[in-house]
Amino acid sequence: MNAKIKGPIAIYYIKRRIGAQREVFSVKSKTYDVVIVGAGPAGLTAGIFAIRRALKIIILHDPGCRPTPNEATIVDDWIGTPHITGTRLMKKFRKHAELMGVPIEGEKVKGIEKAKDGFRIIGEGGVFEAKTVILATGAMHRRAEVPGEKEFTGRGVFYCANCEGPFFRGKKVLIAGGGDTAATYALLLHQIGADTILIHRRDELRAVESYRKQLANSKVRIIWNSIIKEIKGGKFVKSVVVEDLKTHKLTELPMDGVFIAIGSVPMSEMVKGLDVKVNPAGYIAVDKEGRTNVPGLFAAGDIADNPTKRIVTACADGSKAAEAAYMYVQEKKLMAGKK
Ligand code: NDP
Repeated sequence: MNAKIKGPIAIYYIKRRIGAQREVFSVKSKTYDVVIVGAGPAGLTAGIFAIRRALKIIILHDPGCRPTPNEATIVDDWIGTPHITGTRLMKKFRKHAELMGVPIEGEKVKGIEKAKDGFRIIGEGGVFEAKTVILATGAMHRRAEVPGEKEFTGRGVFYCANCEGPFFRGKKVLIAGGGDTAATYALLLHQIGADTILIHRRDELRAVESYRKQLANSKVRIIWNSIIKEIKGGKFVKSVVVEDLKTHKLTELPMDGVFIAIGSVPMSEMVKGLDVKVNPAGYIAVDKEGRTNVPGLFAAGDIADNPTKRIVTACADGSKAAEAAYMYVQEKKLMAGKK
């Protein structure tokens, strides 16, 4: 319980939590109204909205996966907290969900199948049944697929500057990508005191104007119209070969570290067998309320094909999917009553 919350509000939260925990124990072997897969901003918000609707729910999340916002050095677009680290914001989200009594279980989901009255969710440690499922598993780092990337991952090649960046004070680092992630990584590494170079395949960054300005005012060097061709080294990374896409000239740069920040790919493997509609990039197609083409299956956050992918939109997606799941469950109950 958060020590800062006192008085009647604290009692309200404690009652909710105890009530919800009792509920979890009593329904464990039964069917849930909603199983939410993923405990990032979308999943946790869906959990809060679903529990407010008194649905029987559980959030399952892969304990080995860190929600993407953890990797953001600074989140400057979450209203109310203009300057907060992604890790701190995620801790607040999780705490809020727990205080509301949302049951969260570390359980890697391997597959989701259709069942008689909904879905069967196959976890590594057990099987769960649910009337509805909200997918909120997000996306994972896109690999550059260049020689040396796999070999040196963890030995100079990284995907999260927030995590490994601090080891590169006074070292030479290359950040690949032109989006917000690459921009924030470059700014962080520069601030840490690394000799920072950003490499982007075009002559204009995709990152928002505020990051572009900060980069322009920093000493971060940008190599335009270029990509990484190869990462070389011995025990650790020693150099990177880059290709100028206009001239096709190859240049080998001495380097201590490489951070790949070239976007992400949706984590939708688990619904492969469900005939879910996806867009050409593999993101799950949803309507405005987060409904997929499969009745009872919803998607929220970075895994969905929504054009904007921010923490705030993921949370909004989560809330809408939970409301849509609630409506679905109510309709099913009404239909069952009429029979
Ligand atoms: P994005 O998809 O926005 O950007 C990916 C970048 O990598 C693009 O510049 C793209 O180039 C480049 N790229 C893609 N594939 C390759 C490749 N094979 N080789 C070389 N370059 C490649 O991903 P981000 O991770 O940057 O951002 C994801 C979402 O998260 C965005 O919506 C972003 O706004 C959000 N975000 C928000 C933050 C915040 O501060 N609130 C912080 C970090 C992320 P091109 O531009 O040519 O397509």
